[in-house]
Amino acid sequence: MVELKTPGEIEAIRAAGKVVAGVLTAARACAAPGVRLAELDEAARDVLAKAGATSPFLHYKPKFAPVPYPAVICTSVNDAALHGIPGRYRLKPGDLLSVDAGATLDGWVADAAVSFTVGPAVNGDAELIATTEAALRAGIAAAVPGARIGDISAAVGKVGRAGGYGISTDLGGHGVGRSMHEDPHIPNRGKAGRGMRLVPGLVIAIEPWFMGGGSDHIYVDDDGWTVRTADGSRAAHAEHTVAVTSDGPVILTAGA
Ligand code: MG
Repeated sequence: MVELKTPGEIEAIRAAGKVVAGVLTAARACAAPGVRLAELDEAARDVLAKAGATSPFLHYKPKFAPVPYPAVICTSVNDAALHGIPGRYRLKPGDLLSVDAGATLDGWVADAAVSFTVGPAVNGDAELIATTEAALRAGIAAAVPGARIGDISAAVGKVGRAGGYGISTDLGGHGVGRSMHEDPHIPNRGKAGRGMRLVPGLVIAIEPWFMGGGSDHIYVDDDGWTVRTADGSRAAHAEHTVAVTSDGPVILTAGA
């Protein structure tokens, strides 16, 4: 069921979104060669605690997961696309890292992600990240009243395919608000003109993630969480929480 938000509720989600932006900034500032992913999680915990917020990721246990999620952010390195658990791995120069973060503040959730390289990019990673960000912008631009969910999917997918990248439809955008994953689901490719019509008050996370090798196939690591590219190529991910309003799309996870 899709729950529309009032203008006041959208402002509450924006407040959570500012915390998410702060978490992502802190994690990115922490990421350097030799730093363990767990240290990024520690930095994220500090930002959340100082803001009086909690992480909707911590202890999250969807049906597909064998164990509750053990951290406050996801850190996915190189062939890991999504849901990488921040552990003892030490970042290396040239790693492609995506950080996905959420915050719950006063009962409202926001969700965003960013990808970057540790030091200079190698092997086409800069293009992969730039294309993922361009797809996010295209998806957001399509999130206008009167359009349909399929228009967002088509806009995102078109940019990814133009880059020659692989796109899985297994995990994508979603409604967000009182909980992290609400209806509707927003696949990262699809047909324009299909699906639910967008109306003011709809709040959604739009989150393209593309695979550099061009294959659409993924697998889940033995840890039960980490989604990896089947072909071993690198993946990038970009996400914002966005409100559909009568004035057009409004990004709720932008920085202060
Ligand atoms: Mg999300």
